[in-house]
Amino acid sequence: MKYISTRGQTAPMDFSDVLLMGLAPDGGLMLPESYPQVDSATLNDWRQMSYPELAFAIMRLFATDIDEADLKDIVERTYTESVFGTSDITPVRKLEDNLYILGLSNGPTLAFKDVAMQFLGNAFEYVLKKKDERLTIIGATSGDTGSAAEYALRGKDNIEVFMLSPQGKMSAFQRAQMYSLTDDNIHNIAIKGMFDDCQDIVKALQQDADFKEKYSLGTVNSINWGRILAQVVYYFKAYFAVMDSAVQDSDKKVSFCVPSGNFGNICAGHIAREMGLPIDRLIVATNENDVLNDFFNQGAYNPRPADKTYVTSSPSMDISKASNFERFIYLLLERDTDRVHSLFDGVKSGKGFDLSDVMQTVSSRYGFAAGKSAHSDRLATIKDLYDNYNDLIDPHTADGVKVARELQREDEIIICAETALPVKFAETIFEAVGPIDIERPEHTKGLEDLPQRVVELDNKPSLVADEIRKVVAPSA
Ligand SMILES: *Cc1c(COP(=O)(O)O)cnc(C)c1O
Repeated sequence: MKYISTRGQTAPMDFSDVLLMGLAPDGGLMLPESYPQVDSATLNDWRQMSYPELAFAIMRLFATDIDEADLKDIVERTYTESVFGTSDITPVRKLEDNLYILGLSNGPTLAFKDVAMQFLGNAFEYVLKKKDERLTIIGATSGDTGSAAEYALRGKDNIEVFMLSPQGKMSAFQRAQMYSLTDDNIHNIAIKGMFDDCQDIVKALQQDADFKEKYSLGTVNSINWGRILAQVVYYFKAYFAVMDSAVQDSDKKVSFCVPSGNFGNICAGHIAREMGLPIDRLIVATNENDVLNDFFNQGAYNPRPADKTYVTSSPSMDISKASNFERFIYLLLERDTDRVHSLFDGVKSGKGFDLSDVMQTVSSRYGFAAGKSAHSDRLATIKDLYDNYNDLIDPHTADGVKVARELQREDEIIICAETALPVKFAETIFEAVGPIDIERPEHTKGLEDLPQRVVELDNKPSLVADEIRKVVAPSA
């Protein structure tokens, strides 16, 4: 299996090379040349598999240049009950008739990003060892991504992590999660500024080609192909969990509703569907930052600048440019790389695009639909589920449940992705249901009382570069 770029100007590559990459050299995103097809006999074989067995069965189709025994070892070390709290890894629970919740947030940082990031940590370490290389990960975070990356990469050989966060802008829980890590290879840097300032510093250092090369800079952002691939697995697992009683009924399909920001999670659902998993609709749920809702309903994609992005109570979706979107548009435009290139060059300079002429294909051929949820919807949904089912969900998941209920057709089975646990967003939970005791997993009890380790710096790239130089030896 070779990988190619959505912009067509990058020579085909192997999985283990793509794994360590951010953007393709031509500015596009890397994709497999084709999606392996899964027939109903294979689906039946996979149905009884444990999570790591299923992950191996799926990933081996894409990671063909990795030794099979080694890949098996990586997924077996990644998807364990001790890391994810349950041997199901991503358990499904029934909410009401035809509506299910897919629990993706039982990993170390209580958000769905752990499912992919834990795999990436082990896969990075393995590939770096094989290549005899090292990597200095620098990233900017407003909460979930940074902590998931740190918990995945802590203690890994040949990897140093420098994570920039805006000083005083994260919740007490999020701060404690990151800053309490004591592993030698984890470096927390609080920047006196906003999240965008942190991101600008990361960009500045990445763009300094000399510095980048000398210190082997890399990233683990949501466009990473390894993350998308790892997420494909739980769409299959969830389908099997819900369709368990309907083995014979191969015509029956399920739909998924996914709270979306960067189009990463639902892009994995799209790939599962392309592989032949019987998915009916893929429903994109947005918050007030609704550029994807607009696209999937009207066909116009108009990303907003960072300063026009709303700050909401589902903050991990406060994104106005969906960085994985290009992967879908590439297929939609029938692999017309020149057109993809010109559309996304436009996006880069602040211009949107209009594909309303092919919207019929978007829904009928690819199954996409979308809806939107706002602060009051979030609160009402959290309260409704708590009062009626004694089920507490986080604000992002609430956006998904709200949209799923709104768009659900008669007899349509919808599985809603639970992208974080409520304890991470206690303030909004209290606003919705009053001051209750929110359950937390054992390993996070007393987290806020642990000593914290963080370096505070002024908002200047050179100061961050100095921190990196203190730790990482330059290559010759
Ligand atoms: C990152 C995140 C999302 C959005 O996921 P995308 O893959 O960027 O669409 C939704 N909810 C939570 C809690 C997240 O951390």
